[in-house]
Amino acid sequence: MITQPAISFQSKPAPRWRRLLSEAIASPRELLRLLDIDPAAAGPELSADAGFRQRVPRGFAARMRKGDPHDPLLRQVLPLADEDADTPGFVSDPVHDLGAETVPGVLHKYHGRALIITTGACAIHCRYCFRRHFPYGDSNPSPGQWRRALEYLRDDTSITEVILSGGDPLSLPDARLAELARALADIPHLKRLRVHTRLPVVLPERVDEQLLDWLAGTRLKPVMVVHVNHANEIDDAARKALRMIHDRGVPLLNQSVLLKGVNDSADALCDLSEALFDAGALPYYLHMLDPVRGAAHFHVEDAVAEKLLDIVRARLPGYLVPRLVRELAGLPYKLPLE
Ligand SMILES: *Cc1c(COP(=O)(O)O)cnc(C)c1O
Ligand code: SF4
Repeated sequence: MITQPAISFQSKPAPRWRRLLSEAIASPRELLRLLDIDPAAAGPELSADAGFRQRVPRGFAARMRKGDPHDPLLRQVLPLADEDADTPGFVSDPVHDLGAETVPGVLHKYHGRALIITTGACAIHCRYCFRRHFPYGDSNPSPGQWRRALEYLRDDTSITEVILSGGDPLSLPDARLAELARALADIPHLKRLRVHTRLPVVLPERVDEQLLDWLAGTRLKPVMVVHVNHANEIDDAARKALRMIHDRGVPLLNQSVLLKGVNDSADALCDLSEALFDAGALPYYLHMLDPVRGAAHFHVEDAVAEKLLDIVRARLPGYLVPRLVRELAGLPYKLPLE
């Protein structure tokens, strides 16, 4: 017998962002067609996506330049044969997250801060992602898993800040996130709730009153760290979404990854900092690429990175210069390069 899921006629319609999320572009050929780019000009295609399919929200694709196979936004998301390259040193778990999992779904590497993997799902699939091989699929953790995570946080009074990460925590419905925020607020030694997300930029419709209500309404001091790599990602809609968060009193920071062919020029980095500030966000980290298998073609040499930062420092006020860092397994912080 086939059992039908119960349908409640009282249930609210799914928010608009859910539909937009499901309409993301999954086919490289479709993306290139929309951009009027000849697939041959974009470069050889990836033979197998190894479980990490293309995913690009349509609004994000609309910010790409038509006819330009080197567009910095396109480069971040288009699966290419370069990913098949087996480069020594580029491995599946470059920052040893698997070893740092304290209880399922909790990474506790740094003093005072614990990171919860709230979901494996993201609105966009970034080809350089250091968690692209992380075995969490698209599934959401079971309620039992969150219970264990909460127990762990309750038991360790040295933890004062919880980071919701993933995947992208904002791919979960607000009802679940609000419930998690409430449970965290009940833990007396917690002070801050940080959200690491790319959604406000790649799908600005995600920022609505439901989101702002739980984020700005908790006893915990909220902090949001978004992830933008290039100024062209911040169009009017993304700027508006970021300002809405900022205007609710949530400090807004940005982390980027230094990526060859995307933002490896002083102009790109300066424009990004300016665009972020204009939207109410400050640059926080500029990460050196984690050596994840399939991403070697994004690698920028240390010496090049340091030189770029010297130019940026000479052009911008200090508060618009991100910290250039690298994650090394076993270190108690992200290592500054200079
Ligand atoms: C990056 C990271 C953090 C946050 O580090 P900050 O320097 O506080 O931004 C926390 N936990 C884990 C596991 C991380 O990878
Ligand atoms: S949004 Fe973040 S976690 Fe998701 S694929 Fe991109 S870099 Fe990885």
